[in-house]
Amino acid sequence: MDRVYIAIGSNLNNPLFQVKSAIKELQQLPNTKNIIISSFYRSKPMGSQQQPNYLNAVISLDTDLPPNVIFKYTQEIELRHGRIRKFDRWGPRTLDLDIILYGQKIILTTNLIIPHYGLKERNFVLYPLLEIAPMLSFPNGVLLKDKLIYIKKNNLTLW
Ligand code: ATP
Ligand code: CA
Ligand code: CA
Repeated sequence: MDRVYIAIGSNLNNPLFQVKSAIKELQQLPNTKNIIISSFYRSKPMGSQQQPNYLNAVISLDTDLPPNVIFKYTQEIELRHGRIRKFDRWGPRTLDLDIILYGQKIILTTNLIIPHYGLKERNFVLYPLLEIAPMLSFPNGVLLKDKLIYIKKNNLTLW
């Protein structure tokens, strides 16, 4: 089994409901167990500021599902939660599920890049991650807690 970390974000249609519902679906994935859920955080949007604040969380799960299958499930869960992709980058969304880490694997395919490219700059991913995995290191050997010395907690509060 590999431990997979997924970052969850929502800023439309009752984010608390969206995120709780998405977590329920992730808990029901086949060949998957031991779901750990961070606290729920509130962050300022990355794209246009003319959109609501985000609810962010990170979960981990232990799974036998390969990365592309986890990805397929996360895409389906997004769609079931009314995710519509528009042209504006980082626009508002009901649900975003990003696979940030898959064990210590490095995956570089057309649809799926793991570790997620934005992981190391995003405080709304790193702080929830620290909460559920304080001893975590990245595939390049860097410790999460060492990385966080350089990443400020600005504009990140509890939901
Ligand atoms: P960002 O990727 O900067 O967080 P976003 O989440 O708004 O922005 P999306 O429109 O949700 O971007 O995703 C764009 C594409 O990213 C997806 O179609 C997917 O194929 C690709 N992608 C690559 N790596 C990953 C990953 N690790 N997890 C989720 N999607 C990924
Ligand atoms: Ca994202
Ligand atoms: Ca995404």
